[in-house]
Amino acid sequence: TTEDQLRPFNRSRVYMSDLESTLHYSLRVELAAHPVIKGEALSTLQRYISVLAKYFPGRPVVNNLLKSVDMWLKGEKDTELSYSSLRDALDNTAEVPNAALPEGVRWVGCQGSKPHFRRYPCGMWTLFHVLTVQAEEAADPQEVLQAMRSYIHSFFGCRACATHFENMAQESMSHVGTLSSAVLWLWSHHNHVNNRLAGALSEDPHFPKIQWPSPELCPSCHGVKNGEHTWNQAELLTFLRSHFSSEHLLSDYLE
Ligand code: FAD
Repeated sequence: TTEDQLRPFNRSRVYMSDLESTLHYSLRVELAAHPVIKGEALSTLQRYISVLAKYFPGRPVVNNLLKSVDMWLKGEKDTELSYSSLRDALDNTAEVPNAALPEGVRWVGCQGSKPHFRRYPCGMWTLFHVLTVQAEEAADPQEVLQAMRSYIHSFFGCRACATHFENMAQESMSHVGTLSSAVLWLWSHHNHVNNRLAGALSEDPHFPKIQWPSPELCPSCHGVKNGEHTWNQAELLTFLRSHFSSEHLLSDYLE
């Protein structure tokens, strides 16, 4: 497979199609592996849906669906939930007007040169970054980080990934005390993962793992001090806020 078999896209942008594909895969495929959800997993699911309902910068129809699922989950007083009842809520069988989550995946910025490359894990990182940036209006810097951490711990299909991530989170996530440091925490830990995975078999040769963003993507993010590479954190924050902002999401390839 070569580059020209990929759908045309802009490598320096974020696509809504990837975010919706990630929601579809997470909610209709990954969670479907759990026929009954209870205890800690249930509160994890509630917090995950709650941050999606609050911060997902989606199309109105998708936001309406997330809000209706969130309200339904908050009203459920049972201590356990069957996946099939969640699935009904996602498919909007109650026919809440103008609320739907599109079925299926269409990877754009997260497409890979082979089917086993990129896709959902790329989409999950992208979603996570978008949510930390969206939550910058919020009050609690831990809300999105902890909700996503628990989701990955309880449900993320790549169990080795979940273990690695949980170890990083245990070391330092609770020290994050501001919304802007939440954005930077996620950026720097994603780069740790990129560093660990660079050159691994899981790396798509068309999308090499780098310390992101490249100097081409954000020249002012990079600096040199005493001959050593440095990151300019203020410039980085400005860049991340713009790159993952709702105004900058591209809507190509949406149904
Ligand atoms: P990804 O790393 O998925 O990144 C997606 C996009 O985000 C990139 O294309 C780029 O545009 C942007 N980006 C890159 N770096 C940053 C950054 N620092 N900050 C902000 N944006 C950035 N795979 C394993 O093999 N082993 C693991 O232990 C592992 N752990 C994972 C843990 C988590 C929580 C997740 C979500 C995934 C994990 N994966 C792991 C998968 C792996 O990190 C990649 O997602 C996958 O290999 C696809 O890589 P990619 O090239 O699409 O880029």
